[in-house]
Amino acid sequence: MSKNIRSINKLSRNLWWSWDTDAKDLFKNLSPLLWERVNHNPVELLRHISTEELQARCSCEFAARIDKVTKRFDEYIEEKDTWAANHAPELVANPVAYFSAEFGIHESLRIYSGGLGILSGDHLKSASDLGINFIGVTLFYKEGYFRQYLNNDGWQNEDYPLQYPESLPVDKVTTKDGKDLIIEITIAQSTVYAQAWSLKVGRATLYLLDTNIPANEPHYRGICSRVYGGDQNMRINQEILLGIGGVKLLEALNIDPAVYHMNEGHSAFLTLELLKRELEQGLSLEDAKANVKSQCVFTTHTPVPAGHDRFSRDMMHYTFDKYVSQCGIDFDDLMLLGSEDPNNTFGLFTMTVLALKLSRCANGVSKLHGEVSREMWKHLYSTDDPNQVPIGHITNGIHTRSWSSGFTTRFWKKHTESIEDLFSSRESAEAVLSKVSDNELWCLRYRLKRSLFDYISRYLSNQLYHQHQFTPYKQAIDSSRLLKSTLSPDVLTIGFARRFATYKRAPLIFQDLERLNAIINNTEMPVQLLFAGKAHPHDDAGKDYIRQIVQFSQQPQFLGKVIFLENYNIGVAKRLVSGVDVWLNNPVRPMEASGTSGQKTVLHGGLNLSIMDGWWCEAFNENNGWSIGDGEESDNYDEQYRIDAGKLYDVLENHIVPTFYDRDEQNIPVRWLKHVRNAIETIAPVYNTDRMVKEYTLRYYLKVPRI
Ligand SMILES: *Cc1c(COP(=O)(O)O)cnc(C)c1O
Repeated sequence: MSKNIRSINKLSRNLWWSWDTDAKDLFKNLSPLLWERVNHNPVELLRHISTEELQARCSCEFAARIDKVTKRFDEYIEEKDTWAANHAPELVANPVAYFSAEFGIHESLRIYSGGLGILSGDHLKSASDLGINFIGVTLFYKEGYFRQYLNNDGWQNEDYPLQYPESLPVDKVTTKDGKDLIIEITIAQSTVYAQAWSLKVGRATLYLLDTNIPANEPHYRGICSRVYGGDQNMRINQEILLGIGGVKLLEALNIDPAVYHMNEGHSAFLTLELLKRELEQGLSLEDAKANVKSQCVFTTHTPVPAGHDRFSRDMMHYTFDKYVSQCGIDFDDLMLLGSEDPNNTFGLFTMTVLALKLSRCANGVSKLHGEVSREMWKHLYSTDDPNQVPIGHITNGIHTRSWSSGFTTRFWKKHTESIEDLFSSRESAEAVLSKVSDNELWCLRYRLKRSLFDYISRYLSNQLYHQHQFTPYKQAIDSSRLLKSTLSPDVLTIGFARRFATYKRAPLIFQDLERLNAIINNTEMPVQLLFAGKAHPHDDAGKDYIRQIVQFSQQPQFLGKVIFLENYNIGVAKRLVSGVDVWLNNPVRPMEASGTSGQKTVLHGGLNLSIMDGWWCEAFNENNGWSIGDGEESDNYDEQYRIDAGKLYDVLENHIVPTFYDRDEQNIPVRWLKHVRNAIETIAPVYNTDRMVKEYTLRYYLKVPRI
């Protein structure tokens, strides 16, 4: 094999390529069509190209580019003078072990469902960029999360294409003598076996546990089928594998973490395995708990009581009976660890409670969510005063390099050495922007919108062609009419895409169809709307929201002006956040713990329009986007719905639409672009995972916090 082929293979096996525009283009240019067909998966792409072709093309057409990218990659991996080396050398010596039920790293790796996973993936990438020794732990889901397609009425159906290790950049974890590394865990009365895969994400490693091996009974093989699939029993088994299996895996690999980070309560059983270890050393339960606590930190993500994982005493007893005897702890002591009431072990076992009780610090994911969490859990700390509750907050961010790659990165690179200047500080962002004219910014917006609309047009015609049976448009309209009448880049374009959890209220903007019609079909100042999102397979109310929007999109006055794109995922998200003018977010406050999708639009010159919830409460300053209302809350869902919809129309009619269409003599929306500049200067430097991971490190990961 020639050196160039080895290099390109090496690049394909580290997800670093996913945030390096040149590396990505290298793969894409090998065959743009195949690249689309394999869902941007370089391992799969290379499997489809013969060695002869690779040999021929890599040795001349691509030789210089492969060299250049490989050199940058090698330098990245070997860099010693990192932020962590200078600010947290302890975390270069021993790793942070970060446990999460899902990781959203790239669309070709379907081991995520939504925002929680994207956050884990972005955390991993920034930890790598900062030089922290960082290990992620999750499950290898053979079926992943579902692919969404809609039937004629707009009802969501799911299908579960399999993902195979051979097609992914994962390596089987083996022992020193080359055998598969197998760990054993106890579930109910059974021993369950798991192998593991490793995946490289820059300098970080992600381990994926996998019970889908012949040694297991079929129902235990199924633990690793679907992200959040199955019933409560499946859920508890997945969580045992993640938490207990994860700790055992790290032990088998001789990895000694400086700290265990539980990202959401799913992984909280890891504390039990740590407890077991301490008890085996002969410690008392109290001392063992104290030691476990000193090793763990916990991030909660759920601002509603119903959103937390809870298991019945019966289920706990069935599942942990044998395990507790192995641990040497009393079953009631176990129940107490997850009980909200210190005097009652007969209630439910709550994963968040376990995590809170056995971690040295805990946090919510925005300032408001920190407050909500302190209020929600104060009874655990026997206090009425939320300020006494030891739950802080670290506001979520995004991995800016990933979410701004492609044309946007190239655009900014024309104006500055490194795109980091846009998000490392407000001052450096201002300095870059001072070199960019309104004309250039407006050109960027047009270019990105055009590219999104071309993509949508291809996407929709594929949808119409491949899924003739299922297309929602089939009965309502003839496909060529849809494609002809579709989207114009001159028109103010609003995007809404996220999981269709009902609290996010996707159809809010349709509350008053007449008023919406007047906004969309205003002849001077029209508006168009793009939607995408999946409902959880068991969530019929969420599916009904999708159906409603699809049916609105088929009404004659909205045809080609309201579009629903099937199968929302990271790839679709990247397109949408870069192309739209306005990113809409209208959850029920305070249920959006943070939200991150709006942060992704900023460097592309998009603006946020959001309820005062999650991160937006902190970020909004009246000049960097718009708010819907000012943070009022009501207990009456329907009333709040009407009020928020009214405020949404008000701000669109009175502010957003007129500002967008207010043009100077060169037809440039000068006032609009002032908002865009302010958004970049005030949002990009704060709401990114570099800032976020630094905060986790200095406040939470280090034994002695530095800030
Ligand atoms: C960013 C992102 C999310 C998170 O969206 P929010 O609703 O803002 O939390 C979910 N899914 C995908 C695919 C994303 O890219």
